[in-house]
Amino acid sequence: MTTKIIAVINQKGGVGKTTTVINVGASLAIAGKKVLLVDLDPQGNMSSGLGIDPAIVQENNVYNALVGEKSLIQLATTTALENLFVVPSNSDLAGAEIELVDVPRREFRLRDSLSQEILDFDYVLIDCPPSLGLLTLNALCGSTSYLIPLQSEFFAMQGLTNILKTAGLVRDHFNPALEEEGILVTMFDSRSNLSKQVYNELKEFAGHRLFANVIPRRVRLAESTSHGLPGVIYDPTCLASRSYQAVAEELEMRARGETPTQTAPKFVPPDPVDRFGKVGRPAPTQP
Ligand code: ADP
Ligand code: MG
Repeated sequence: MTTKIIAVINQKGGVGKTTTVINVGASLAIAGKKVLLVDLDPQGNMSSGLGIDPAIVQENNVYNALVGEKSLIQLATTTALENLFVVPSNSDLAGAEIELVDVPRREFRLRDSLSQEILDFDYVLIDCPPSLGLLTLNALCGSTSYLIPLQSEFFAMQGLTNILKTAGLVRDHFNPALEEEGILVTMFDSRSNLSKQVYNELKEFAGHRLFANVIPRRVRLAESTSHGLPGVIYDPTCLASRSYQAVAEELEMRARGETPTQTAPKFVPPDPVDRFGKVGRPAPTQP
């Protein structure tokens, strides 16, 4: 298998991009894949969420790759998980967006920083900032596919249309090989009728482009960040963690060219608490 480089994009903040990168990445690493996570957001949430020492971030900022000082791989640092590596970032990256405006091949800085060693990795997941600016453009130009985390809420469809338009433009003008990995519904609240309604609209619009697994909203997952650990390690039994593991398996299926079969009816609330009115019952079969 060649290296899959996946940009995780959405111009909206707080939709679960960083959480998705951390937990899908960690799940793949636990499954034995060699994974590199790239923090392309100057807020550096992924780096702090993985508990990377700020001194190491300072030395190994993704900024150094974008300005051509080092290759991306030279900046990769280790994490608590054996197969999981990260190229971190911090607020220094904010300057890059301005500095890069006038440089040649400004859209390809990330792609140009990829060296042969990238082929050692099975997956590279890129955590993008909440905008469709130059950093996200670099991610899309340097990736083989993109994944869109989306909250099932009022403006979801409108936001999705904009992202798909941008991705289409990048494919047409810069990266013809760019594929769509899929759309992942995150922070799903199965008690909300609006959530379900929007989910059904998304499903109607996107069909199999929507990941069969949905990520429910769970406090344990949000807590994991403050412990500097992926949710799938901090609490592997939490339903949101298990859902992220299932998404990683879905990604693997897609990488093998298999289409995940949707065995579930049109919509199965992915939440045993709501289905059985009680915590601790086995999760419903996830598609
Ligand atoms: P983004 O990277 O798109 O800005 P984050 O991944 O940082 O979004 O998520 C925004 C906030 O929501 C964070 O505080 C995160 O811990 C929390 N969060 C993400 N996913 C979940 C979830 N499934 N359940 C509960 N909280 C979540
Ligand atoms: Mg983020």
